[in-house]
Amino acid sequence: MSIEVTNVTKKYGDFYALDDVSVSLPTGQLTALLGPSGGGKSTLLRIIAGLDTADSGSVAIEGTNATKLPPQKRNVGFVFQHYAVFKHMTVAKNVAFGLEIRKTPKAEVKRRVGELLELVHLSQFADRLPSQLSGGQRQRMALARALAVEPSVLLLDEPFGALDAKVRKELREWLRRLHDEVHVTTVFVTHDQEEAMEVADEIVVINQGRVEQVGSPDQLYDEPANDFVMGFLGEVTRLGPVRLRPHDIEVATTPGRAGTFPGTVTRLLRVGFEVRLQVELEDVSRDGRSATSSTTGVGAAPVSVVLPRSHARSLDLELGSRVWLTAAVGAVTVPAMVPAVVAV
Ligand code: ADP
Ligand code: MG
Repeated sequence: MSIEVTNVTKKYGDFYALDDVSVSLPTGQLTALLGPSGGGKSTLLRIIAGLDTADSGSVAIEGTNATKLPPQKRNVGFVFQHYAVFKHMTVAKNVAFGLEIRKTPKAEVKRRVGELLELVHLSQFADRLPSQLSGGQRQRMALARALAVEPSVLLLDEPFGALDAKVRKELREWLRRLHDEVHVTTVFVTHDQEEAMEVADEIVVINQGRVEQVGSPDQLYDEPANDFVMGFLGEVTRLGPVRLRPHDIEVATTPGRAGTFPGTVTRLLRVGFEVRLQVELEDVSRDGRSATSSTTGVGAAPVSVVLPRSHARSLDLELGSRVWLTAAVGAVTVPAMVPAVVAV
């Protein structure tokens, strides 16, 4: 294991920013720390980096107990959302900085910087100043600078958080390819589930100072440990006694097998290749069955359903259509413990 965090607790006053957190991050992997804002992700990253100290617990990096080591002795590189660059230095000089303060021979610095700029696709910008780069290019420069000193661990705290959606998407694909080339153990903080799912080998879901689940993107999506993880990793809706993903609901235009819920399409939206429906369930308790609103979900928010456009077309769906909804075979579900009417 590259990074072993064991029973780490960090309090600010009476508030637990981290509450007995233990995680093992394997060497060479790209791990995402994923969770809502305020969950404790940055605190954990800072404790791994040595920029902050835990109240109790330990951190080991590559087998060495690092709990009391200062950051510069941990052999970690960082990149933050707003990266502090040297504004008066060229891109090449910024990347060279860490090597120069280590008194690396000049020829070696030149060679390394050349390699790194190529790796982050900034070779042609070597002589520019950071202010002459776009936001995405600046973050790539920051990564090259962090990688220059060959850290055993690279720590990234929402490195693309300040960039616009399109650039973020490009950079996350680029980061994945970069990681496949250099294989440095990387821990990546994000609150964006799509970013984590797309980039990471493994995801650690952190919420309210605790680890909710650790697993591959597929494991988390297909076998969420709890309602929180399920809701955080994707859209969730309620169908009768269960909560499930909108695309895991089957739609029929005739009454089907037992366990189907009749309802009416109250909203229909085409988004690209899919169609999103809202279905208001009918109160089946009226026709003699002993269902109550807490088991049918009647009176709750409408059910969200997503289906491929071609399928929606073949069913001739339109506003006001009467439909029967069923949880698909193999759908991931969790019990709907929430009351039928949820105050928002
Ligand atoms: P995240 O990165 O997941 O958004 P943080 O680790 O930054 O969350 O913060 C976790 C919690 O700890 C937040 O509620 C935050 O307000 C609190 N916190 C973080 N740093 C400090 C600090 N220096 N003093 C007081 N509270 C802090
Ligand atoms: Mg943070």
